[in-house]
Amino acid sequence: MADTYDYLVVGAGFAGSVLAERLAEGSGKTVLVVDRRDHLAGNAHDRTDAAGVLIHAYGPHYFRTNSDKVVAYLSRFTDWHHVDYQVLVWTGGKYWQFPINLNTFEQYLGRPSTTEEMEATLAKWRVPVDHPKNSEEVVLSQVGREFYEMFFRNYTRKQWRRDPSQLDASVCGRIPVRTNRDNRFVTEKFQALPREGYTAMFKRMLDHPRIEVRLKTDYRDVRAQVKFHHLIYTGMIDEYFNFSEGRLPYRSMRFEPETFPKEFFQPAMQVNYPNDFDYTRVVEIKHATGQKIPVTTVVREYPEDFGPGKEAYYPVPADDTKVLYGKYAERAAQDKKTTFVGRLATYRYYNMDQVVAMALTEYERLKTR
Ligand SMILES: Cc1cc2nc3c(=O)[nH]c(=O)nc-3n(C[C@H](O)[C@H](O)[C@H](O)COP(=O)(O)OP(=O)(O)OC[C@H]3O[C@@H](n4cnc5c(N)ncnc54)[C@H](O)[C@@H]3O)c2cc1C
Repeated sequence: MADTYDYLVVGAGFAGSVLAERLAEGSGKTVLVVDRRDHLAGNAHDRTDAAGVLIHAYGPHYFRTNSDKVVAYLSRFTDWHHVDYQVLVWTGGKYWQFPINLNTFEQYLGRPSTTEEMEATLAKWRVPVDHPKNSEEVVLSQVGREFYEMFFRNYTRKQWRRDPSQLDASVCGRIPVRTNRDNRFVTEKFQALPREGYTAMFKRMLDHPRIEVRLKTDYRDVRAQVKFHHLIYTGMIDEYFNFSEGRLPYRSMRFEPETFPKEFFQPAMQVNYPNDFDYTRVVEIKHATGQKIPVTTVVREYPEDFGPGKEAYYPVPADDTKVLYGKYAERAAQDKKTTFVGRLATYRYYNMDQVVAMALTEYERLKTR
């Protein structure tokens, strides 16, 4: 296409694709998007498997937001399928309602109860911590040791290979604790999946005469050949700087799909396994997509260490990693020809809507350059 692109965008996930679309459509810029994977949508990628089931390839992606602006923007490229996301935990040989609420408390007691009784009990169980500094303290201060050990401790250790006491309070603090019967996994006012899936939404977003997309293309292989004025980078920040300050830790994951010749495999979209098996959760996204098909596919998630040949799925939010990231962030701030945006480039545990909002804000900044 162009001889010199206005922008080279590294990564066709939410961060890169939103910026590419805005720069091309909103500012008339020419944009080349490269991604080293063979598909669009980054970690939000979904696809139809051999049995015809729409699955989320890299773990379930529950879109939810309180931002009208983000919904309005994405709605240009998709209709929505509204859904209340529901999660169960399997431990002690049975399913439990999760996040913890009055229904969970009743299951624990083995009899009906009330909000007042649950609040009074939690008040006794809670370990007083004024300012929880890590994930162990945050859970102990909300629900006490019994529920911490049933639901949180081992799940977190499996997922992060760190004790909750070695992780930011934000990791477990994200999960609500309720004393009513609200069974929803999250409480944001807008909860929906793109009606035809994430990948279809990204295709529409990037289908633009001023955007060229090259998949299976690593930035490091093309940076010397491609001419561009400004770089938008959404990959790992330490990789961008050739790991010169040291390697940031990430968590990786192995996703193992299995298809069954029946309509549903399990009673909910997601079942967490804190205390059994090597996998952390089993996801049957069909419960959420609403797809009507007589077969089903579940995906089991096995946490893995990050290393050669693995994808970096999660930055590891903790005090030690903040210090190392800070060194890269300082270097990034000096680099005026590159914009670092998204989950891996800012080393933050962002949800999709936060990444969209971040990219839209970044666009406003770039527009005035
Ligand atoms: C298992 C899992 C479950 C999640 N569940 C939810 C959820 O339920 N709800 C929610 O809101 N969020 C969820 N998220 C978070 C969500 O995936 C992210 O917020 C979002 O995908 C971030 O978009 P991004 O563009 O920053 O990064 P990514 O989606 O990671 O995109 C970055 C892209 O850059 C490419 N890339 C990197 N380096 C290079 C290079 N050198 N050359 C070429 N390409 C490169 C990568 O291949 C990748 O496709 C989940 C994440 C994971 C891992």
